[in-house]
Amino acid sequence: LKDARESLMIVSGFAQKFFTRYLWEENEGRTIGLSYFRERSFRDDILKKFEVGFAPDGKTPFTEAAQKQGYKIEFLEKTGLTIKRDDWMRDRFAGRVMFPIHNLAGRVTAFGGRTLTNDKKIAKYLNSPESEIYHKSKVLYGIFQAKREMTRTDKCYLVEGYTDVLSMHQAGIENVVASSGTALTPDQIRLIRRFTPNITIIYDGDAAGIKASLRGIDLVLEEGMNVKVLLLPDGEDPDSFAKKMGASGYLEYIQKNETDFIQFKTRLLLKNTENDPVAKARLISDVIGSVAVIPDTITRSVYIKECSRLLGVDEQVLYTEVRRQKYKQS
Ligand code: ATP
Ligand code: MN
Ligand code: MN
Ligand code: MN
Repeated sequence: LKDARESLMIVSGFAQKFFTRYLWEENEGRTIGLSYFRERSFRDDILKKFEVGFAPDGKTPFTEAAQKQGYKIEFLEKTGLTIKRDDWMRDRFAGRVMFPIHNLAGRVTAFGGRTLTNDKKIAKYLNSPESEIYHKSKVLYGIFQAKREMTRTDKCYLVEGYTDVLSMHQAGIENVVASSGTALTPDQIRLIRRFTPNITIIYDGDAAGIKASLRGIDLVLEEGMNVKVLLLPDGEDPDSFAKKMGASGYLEYIQKNETDFIQFKTRLLLKNTENDPVAKARLISDVIGSVAVIPDTITRSVYIKECSRLLGVDEQVLYTEVRRQKYKQS
């Protein structure tokens, strides 16, 4: 079993080097892939740090090159790099820019590939399938490049996408990982906890991003960790906003505008509440719902104090509501 996994990692490592070489050295890679990254203003040092690449377009140019180098079709298929049926096969990522996904040790275990077409019928990103070396619910994109800075700063920024991670690094912010489109899982949160208990969620400033943030908050709190949120302006994501702001002001902007989860939820819900007492009661119960999942009693009491102050509700009433909701949750 160990050998099988090693074989898959070796094939993945070969593929990453092939795609990277293709991006920088082959005409097709340079004119299509590299120009794409440059149009999006990514610097060469960032592209190299993340070992991005380009997969040649066509039916099987990658698979053929790999086989010529002696890589067995069995492993190409198991990593998902090649899609094989009885009577045909093709390269999974043909014509896409490639984002290798590294494990904690820095070895490539999977890929995300972005299409360069604007065709809405084609998936914008394709990911490697689950394999013996890639379980997407346990992996965070960028963790290898972030771990040292996560320890040093005792903090982790959590974003949605590959390009968000690259842009944050380009702006000098290196303690950042992405959930890469999958709904956040407890395993991913625990992976962050190995380095720091402090997470700031910076998801896209759209309805989907807000919804995912709310879910993320409770997951982080359930693991006994601390969570803040930065809400980006509508329609922005950490990549687009970094490019709008310019690198120099970005960290400052984030530090100034991130709020703890109580303020985030209160502000968000107050927008739809006005002076309606029924809606306000629902808001209180919603915010307390997040407090109720916090395992530590003392931390819970600190947040109850803040809720009481922000919402103008008596602390004892909030304690009663926490107890009621904990009972409901169990
Ligand atoms: P870009 O800036 O290149 O357009 P993005 O990261 O802003 O990409 P989003 O649409 O915000 O793209 O999606 C966030 C993340 O979700 C992506 O980085 C990718 O990991 C994942 N994702 C997006 N679309 C798909 C898809 N069709 N299939 C699988 N994963 C996807
Ligand atoms: Mn989005
Ligand atoms: Mn996005
Ligand atoms: Mn984007």
